[in-house]
Amino acid sequence: MKAVSDLPQGYIERERIDFKHNRKLFWILNSAAVLLLPCFGVSFLLIAVSLNPHLASSGSFESRGWSIVIGIVLLVLSCIVCMIVHELIHSLCFWLFTGSRPHFGFKWLYAYASAPNWYIPRGPFLFVGLAPFVCLTLLGIALLPFVSAGISLLLCCLLTAHTMGCVGDFYVVIRLLMASSGLLIRDYGDGMAFYAHA
Ligand SMILES: [Zn+2]
Repeated sequence: MKAVSDLPQGYIERERIDFKHNRKLFWILNSAAVLLLPCFGVSFLLIAVSLNPHLASSGSFESRGWSIVIGIVLLVLSCIVCMIVHELIHSLCFWLFTGSRPHFGFKWLYAYASAPNWYIPRGPFLFVGLAPFVCLTLLGIALLPFVSAGISLLLCCLLTAHTMGCVGDFYVVIRLLMASSGLLIRDYGDGMAFYAHA
């Protein structure tokens, strides 16, 4: 089944994940991200220490001649770049499956990518949802052995922050895995609607 721009006959909207208006969902996902932070952080730190032995011996920004302030500024800037690249990967996946240019934009402090005029099957949409996490996590881990201890620590923080930011994508993926295979999904930017045969 391919992505289509017209909803096939017999399909009706079954459910909707509305990230913008569903405040309960918003708080649940953000709380889950905060609760999982130690888990993500420790996992990336263990990976970093095993790939970059300098990290275990020197350990902190200050021991590398960096101030905490510089570390935080670098982390904030790299988080912004990471968020934009994350949404660009979603965009590229939308483009790959629809053959049409996706919507890409900025709202307040966040970037977003969507394909509001397309109905995408469950399989490709799972790919769209997981691609940024997989690509950016693998890229970050691949860089760990070749960077200094300070950059390695920064990468750990960045990978942790990015994984926390992926909690919404993980939620969509889990919902899709529990849904039937004939599902079509339309991402309208603030959320997504699921369509199935009546
Ligand atoms: Zn995402």
